[in-house]
Amino acid sequence: MAGTRYIYDFDEASTGGRELLGGKGIGLAEMTQMGVPVPSGFTITTDACRAYMAVGKELPDGFEDQLDSHLRALEEKTGKRFGDASDPLLVSVRSGAAISMPGMMDTILNVGLNDVSVDGLAATTGNERFAYDCYRRLIEMYGETVDGVHYERFNPDDDPVDAIDGLKAVYREQTGRDFPQDPREQLRRAILAVFESWQAPRAQVYRRTYDIPDDLGTAVNVVQMVFGNKGDRSGTGVAFTRDPSTGEQGLYGEFLLDAQGEDVVAGIRTPQPLAEMEQRLPHAFEQLLETMARLERHYRDMQDVEFTIDEGELYLLQTRSAKRTAAASVKAAVDMAEEGLISREEAIARIDPAQLDQLLHPMLDPTATWEVAAKGLNASPGAASGKVVLDADTAEQRGKAGEAVLLVRWETTPDDIHGLIQARGVLTAHGGMTSHAAVVARGMGKPCVAGCESLSIDMDARTMTVGGQTLSEGDVLTIDGGTGAVIVGEVPLVPPRVNDDLETILAWGDEHRRLKVRANADTPEDAAKAREFGAQGIGLCRTEHMFMAQDRLPVVQQMIMAEDERGRRAALDKLLPFQQGDFEGIFEAMAGLPVTIRLLDPPLHEFLPDEEHAADERMRRRIRSLREANPMLGTRGCRLGLQYPEIYEMQVRAIVRAAKAVEERTGDAPLVEIMHPLVAFEEELRRLRELTVAVAEEEDAGEYLCGTMIELPRACVRADEIAGQADFFSFGTNDLTQTALGFSRDDAEGKFLTHYLEDGVLERNPFETLDQSGVGDLMRIAVERGRSTKPDLKLGICGEHGGEPKSVVFCHELGLDYVSCSPYRVPLARLAAAQAALAGEGVAEYVTAGG
Ligand code: PEP
Ligand code: MG
Repeated sequence: MAGTRYIYDFDEASTGGRELLGGKGIGLAEMTQMGVPVPSGFTITTDACRAYMAVGKELPDGFEDQLDSHLRALEEKTGKRFGDASDPLLVSVRSGAAISMPGMMDTILNVGLNDVSVDGLAATTGNERFAYDCYRRLIEMYGETVDGVHYERFNPDDDPVDAIDGLKAVYREQTGRDFPQDPREQLRRAILAVFESWQAPRAQVYRRTYDIPDDLGTAVNVVQMVFGNKGDRSGTGVAFTRDPSTGEQGLYGEFLLDAQGEDVVAGIRTPQPLAEMEQRLPHAFEQLLETMARLERHYRDMQDVEFTIDEGELYLLQTRSAKRTAAASVKAAVDMAEEGLISREEAIARIDPAQLDQLLHPMLDPTATWEVAAKGLNASPGAASGKVVLDADTAEQRGKAGEAVLLVRWETTPDDIHGLIQARGVLTAHGGMTSHAAVVARGMGKPCVAGCESLSIDMDARTMTVGGQTLSEGDVLTIDGGTGAVIVGEVPLVPPRVNDDLETILAWGDEHRRLKVRANADTPEDAAKAREFGAQGIGLCRTEHMFMAQDRLPVVQQMIMAEDERGRRAALDKLLPFQQGDFEGIFEAMAGLPVTIRLLDPPLHEFLPDEEHAADERMRRRIRSLREANPMLGTRGCRLGLQYPEIYEMQVRAIVRAAKAVEERTGDAPLVEIMHPLVAFEEELRRLRELTVAVAEEEDAGEYLCGTMIELPRACVRADEIAGQADFFSFGTNDLTQTALGFSRDDAEGKFLTHYLEDGVLERNPFETLDQSGVGDLMRIAVERGRSTKPDLKLGICGEHGGEPKSVVFCHELGLDYVSCSPYRVPLARLAAAQAALAGEGVAEYVTAGG
């Protein structure tokens, strides 16, 4: 591919955008073109990285010549020469993928220094300590990144001049070579190392977690060095245009005097708040304020920048859309819409519905009492209790085994990512609000308390001490990432509430939304919670949960154990008042809104104990007789109702009586929908409808609908026939996924499906995100055929997918009337449905559609 252009200077136009130049590269180019102070440099495109990976890790033809010519142009712009002995041009080599992956890939600073030019730099700057500090950092970063050399951590109080020989000796010992003195070789190998870091295990884990394609590659930015480590008129920091935890307006960030960037990002020294910078470097602070306001206006979004002050001069090294918590995302979107920076529609489109899960995370129960053992920084909100684990491997292992664990570390590094994924929360002794642990935890929506200085860890004894109390690994600890509190022992947690900003956005979204959102709820409490979150009805009330309650189970067992229909009816008569009471509670909680009640679904043996716990021999025999090789495909759902019609008769009677009782009490007739599960044949539903109608007539019922779950492939393809018997369909995509894919959920997750996902056979878990091309196609067939018989057939979904944003969008596009999901996901489904409608109107790009 001779002739391909692989490098662009920051002040050159390219048409490739973010995909070609990476996030950092495009930001540097745009800032340069806006006249924001940015050091000179150039970007090596993602094309070059992809070419490198494709051609067996060789640089593509023509690349080296292009590198030379852009290096010459940089020398001209800066008036310095790369490799000059007396006043050398130094550069940083920085990764920058199209989709930001904070801290996952590598950066090397001060490339171009060697044994000779370090003295030149010392002479021209009159600062020997500074020059050697730069050289020391180069040897360390280059060694670690390019050659995998491990050094002892440098103590900032030590003299860098003395450190050089020791570092070079370590480099030689571990690589068998001297530290390279040729700047051009340093540059070339640094670029290759950044390309390679795309494939680093931690970067791969990160991409899998965030659904980032593996073949994008990274761009590489070669940037003239500016120095934050030149003494007390220099420094470096990161800043946000709004608070990334809360979304609160106002500049927010951290900085370090006399330091280079990686000191802040790696959490090596705990930085100071920006207010401190206002005191120390007021002119640069003013300039920073002004520049950031400009950047936010330009990008029309909250920005996150890296900056350096080189002897009082401010330079921006990066700008990007800030990573933020869900709370910050919502608040910033509402504020920006109210400030007129963006439209309301854009505000709706800006929020990732999946991220709302974070806002709906547990908090410490305000009515409980606890003692705060120590305080750290409130780095990522939400509370978590869990067993202390002290390293990422243990966190991964125990987390995967289903234990609630908290990862407790001196600080985290990108190599801890697999442990962070499994942990409920993170506590670190070190590092600030922008340390690795804090950034990653916020991105994942996990609680994090960082920089808890009174925390100490003894890795040999595998203990931690906080506030004078020592805990062993496995002891329980609680953290509150909203306040920074660390508490020994467990504290009860309570569910959160929807705050005003979220209410506002959801209300704006509701104006566009076509799809209704209902909740799956089996109790009046859940129903009430769902209503509070904006549910427009109940899409699935599973009646089996009511059979499981302690006061019912013995009667249910009596029914199952009965010798004949008479015996069963006697037990069912006792159950009826319980069921009626359950339904009355739910109808009242949902007054004015539809409630879909599903008749009994699970196989009867689920209500009996294990054989070894059976009361007597008779029960043991019954248990054995009910045993099935594959209960998922056995006597359950409507098959049960057809075999033991008295069970469904009792349930229909209880529903109808409950509706009438509530109408008498409140004056409002509940909107009742009676639903039959696991129907495959029209004849099944025809008979069950007959049963339903007969009981309802006997009871002199008011209005109600009678419909069916669609959760078997046969039901989808024969939906035209089934629709003749149904007033509504509700897609049970849990069972439909199992039966369409032939995956038993219990035998898939944690087993072959986990392997499929790790190995990339499947990209997503089909039990979480609807398999649109397979299961989704069956749904499409069912919708078309069902409506061909009955154009006004009511259609919904009540499987888990009804609360998953991408699946919600699919349901909108399919033309369903509603989705139904767990109460806590109602806000998220409302937002996803609004975004789908907006995208349909062509008003705004929406987050859910991506990836
Ligand atoms: C379903 O199968 O999608 C469904 C909602 O029913 P259940 O999960 O109770 O089997
Ligand atoms: Mg089902």
